[in-house]
Amino acid sequence: MSILLDGKQCALDIESTLKLDIEKLQALGKRLPKLVVLLVGDNPASVSYVTNKDKACHRVGILSEIIRLSETSTEAMIIDEVIKLNKDDSVDGILVQLPLPNRMPSKKIIESIDPNKDVDGLHSVNVTKLVMNEKGFVPCTAKGVVTLLKTYHIPLQGAHAVVLGRSQLVGRPLAQLLTNENCTVTVCHSKTIDIPQYTRMADIVIAAIGQAKMVTKDYLSSKAAVVDVGINKVDDKLVGDVDFENVVDLVRAISPVPKGVGPMTIVTLLQNTMEAYTLREAHHG
Ligand code: NDP
Repeated sequence: MSILLDGKQCALDIESTLKLDIEKLQALGKRLPKLVVLLVGDNPASVSYVTNKDKACHRVGILSEIIRLSETSTEAMIIDEVIKLNKDDSVDGILVQLPLPNRMPSKKIIESIDPNKDVDGLHSVNVTKLVMNEKGFVPCTAKGVVTLLKTYHIPLQGAHAVVLGRSQLVGRPLAQLLTNENCTVTVCHSKTIDIPQYTRMADIVIAAIGQAKMVTKDYLSSKAAVVDVGINKVDDKLVGDVDFENVVDLVRAISPVPKGVGPMTIVTLLQNTMEAYTLREAHHG
C-alpha cells in the first residue's frame, strides 16, 4: 500500500499554525495581513478559485478583499487598480486571477505589481530570484508541491525528479524549485519523445499537463513518489493527470485529486501573504 500524500490534511495543519500566528497579532493589537484579489470578468472557474481563496483567508484571519472588474476592462484600467493597491499600506498581497478574459496578455499587468506584494510569485523580479536561488515569492502551486513532499519526508536531495509540463505557472517554477532543493530534474513536455522512459527511472514524478489520467502504470516504477497537479473534468467529475486507481498499489506515494495539490496551492497563498506582511512590517520597523 502506498503512502497517501494528503494535501487536504497538510493544508489544514498549516492553516492551524497560521491562525495561531494571526491570533497573536490580534492579541497584540497589531495590523493584520491583507490580501487583495483582482478578478476580471466572471469566468466560473476563476470565480470559484477566488471564492475559495477568500474563504481560506477568513478561516485563518487574513483580511481579504476581492475587487471585481468588468470583462470589458482594458489593460490600462487593470494596471491603474494594481498601482492603487501598490500604494495602499494596508495591502500586503496582490493577486491578479489568471487567465484574463478575451485572451488579454497578462505580462504588463503582472509586471505592474510591486514585487514585494507579488504573492503569486509571477513578477520577473521573483522569477529571477527563484532562478538565482535567492529568497523571494515562489508560485503557490510549485511551492505547495514541495511542501507536500517535505511534509511526508520524501527525500529530495539527490533524487531524480521528472516534471511533466513546462508552463510559467507550474512546470517551470517547479523544476527550478526542485533543482534548488538539490534534486536532479528532467522536464518533459508535449514534444518529448517517449515520456515513460524518463518517468520509469524517476524517484519523484510530478504531473502538471492537464491530460486526464495520462500517467498510467507503464509510466511508473515502485520507487516513485507521484504528485498529481492536474485538474480535469471528465463526466462532471474532477480527475488528475494520473490514473490514480490503477497506479495507487504500485507506487511508493501518491497525491489524490481532489484533496491533493489544490488545497496546498491555496494554503501556500496564505503563507506567502503572511510572509509579505512580515517582510513589510520588518521594513517599516
Ligand atoms: P498549461 O496548459 O499552461 O501547460 C501544460 C503543459 O503540459 C505544457 O508545458 C505542455 O507542453 C504540457 N503538455 C500538454 N499535453 C501534454 C502531453 N500530452 N504530453 C506531455 N506534455 C504535455 O497548464 P498549467 O501548467 O497551467 O496546468 C497544468 C494542469 O495543472 C492543468 O490541469 C491545471 O488545471 C492544473 N493546475 C492545478 C492547480 C492546482 O492547484 N491543483 C494549479 C494550476 C494548474 P508544451 O509546453 O509543449 O505545450
